[in-house]
Amino acid sequence: VRRPLIAGNWKMNMDHVQGITLLQKLAWTLDDANHDHNRVEVAVFPPFTDLRGVQTLVAGDDLDVVYGGQDLSQHDSGAYTGDISGQFLNKLGCRYVLVGHSERRSVHQESDETLRAKVEAAYRHDLVPVLCVGEGLEIRQAGTHVEHTLEQLRADVDGLDAEKVATLVVAYEPVWAIGTGEVAGPEDAQEMCAAIRAELTKLYDADTAEKVRLLYGGSVKGQNAAAILRERDVDGVLVGGASLDAGEFASIVRFEN
Ligand code: 13P
Repeated sequence: VRRPLIAGNWKMNMDHVQGITLLQKLAWTLDDANHDHNRVEVAVFPPFTDLRGVQTLVAGDDLDVVYGGQDLSQHDSGAYTGDISGQFLNKLGCRYVLVGHSERRSVHQESDETLRAKVEAAYRHDLVPVLCVGEGLEIRQAGTHVEHTLEQLRADVDGLDAEKVATLVVAYEPVWAIGTGEVAGPEDAQEMCAAIRAELTKLYDADTAEKVRLLYGGSVKGQNAAAILRERDVDGVLVGGASLDAGEFASIVRFEN
């Protein structure tokens, strides 16, 4: 059984003061609703500058929320101005780290080769990578989206051992559905997640593939989350815009209610 993961990617929103306020509100809302954290895991991905504050709040108030960075360097330390090491994220109590978000791929031209190294770096520092894959509009229209997404997956996990892969989280985020209000249908999410799991079965084995959690991302809201999460191979969601509103995000976390 895979524990559902509801993850909020704040992107470049929320300074460290706003971030704390948002997280506090989220925790209160979930508390009021008696949310069972053992059933559904809640994670947030704040900007790097918020992480120390988030750590202090989560530890101080004993919140049942885990958190991670939005990116990491493939290197551990050295002359890489502006980059953040997985070591630093680990020290701040991060459990997860996003790798290869479509905005990193497009705005920062991150290649699959770089992303493969970042996946390795994450594991080196005991962080679980949330590897993001997915196609743009043109590829979707050409009908080659499954092929395209699996190609990214294969390149980004190339040579990784099965033990690590079993803990991996893969987020399918069709670029055309990100921040556009255009949401992929539950059957689109299921189609891709099933294809990803089948590919992992081929690359590794069924046991390993059954353990990997697969998320859908792209215009997820309180009102469409339950239908997406009901699909067999969808084990969670990666939420952008709607994670910036505590009430809306809490309603996604409580999709079973
Ligand atoms: P939106 O939920 O704003 O479409 O963003 C999705 C996303 O990119 C999450 O990583």
